[in-house]
Amino acid sequence: MKKSIKYIIIAIIVIAIIVALVILNINRDKQESKEDGTLKMVTSFYPMYIIAENITEGAENIELVNMADVNVGCLHDYTLTTEDMKKVENADIFIMNGLGMESFIDKVISSNTNMEVIDSSTNMQNIILDENGVNAHIWTSIDNYILQVENIAEALIQKDEVNAEKYKANADGYIEKLEELKNSYSSELQDVKGTKAICLNEAFAYLGQDLGLDMTMVETNHEESTMSAEMLRNVIDEIKNENIQVIIVDKNDSKTNAETIANETGAKIYELNSGLTGSEDKDSYLNAMKENLELLKSI
Ligand SMILES: [Zn+2]
Repeated sequence: MKKSIKYIIIAIIVIAIIVALVILNINRDKQESKEDGTLKMVTSFYPMYIIAENITEGAENIELVNMADVNVGCLHDYTLTTEDMKKVENADIFIMNGLGMESFIDKVISSNTNMEVIDSSTNMQNIILDENGVNAHIWTSIDNYILQVENIAEALIQKDEVNAEKYKANADGYIEKLEELKNSYSSELQDVKGTKAICLNEAFAYLGQDLGLDMTMVETNHEESTMSAEMLRNVIDEIKNENIQVIIVDKNDSKTNAETIANETGAKIYELNSGLTGSEDKDSYLNAMKENLELLKSI
């Protein structure tokens, strides 16, 4: 009997020592992750993630995380999830589009007050207003997008001295490619200026503005299937009255209504890429806009 008590006491002591060691180790791990200098950046959604990917490529001790899943698409209809909030918990930097795209931003900021927020839309000009207020899909204009890249790069350079040169070089290289693309747009799409078009996706308002299209925007919240019968009728009437030949949709849209309109009017559907979704390839914006260039040439 006495012997078994002795064993129990020894067992308790051994367990206590193991528990103490485990706790010590957890604490040490926690401190290490705080002191290893990793800068955690969280982007609000896909277009911001692609910009950050380009600027931070090859940078040391950084962690880049995209908050809203790429399948979410636009943040228009997005509701902040507990899972996504967790990604922001220990972030040092939050990179956002701005202009109201991140309607949840106050909640994100109050959850982590130590985090620096970078707004890519700072000093943005030529803001388009629609029936819902500011149209925040600024990145479909290459000019706007370049400013977004500059704003994010500048803020990161200020924040992270160690990688500052890297960020500068990466941003310069990326902007050079964007300028080239912009030149191709100007030289190859001269003829589309003034062309009348109907656009069933608000993401392309800025692209249309850059191209000088005479574009009627139909608010669909990125889903042309939401159009009411009355709206559809009005669009068909307008296309007939104005002799419009171009219908612009996002390639990821359903196209049900666009096809009805095309069938009734003879106008052609152009399926553009809004850059709202895609692969993790850092060139995905460049590729999307090149894809659009090729399609627009046929207008
Ligand atoms: Zn949207």
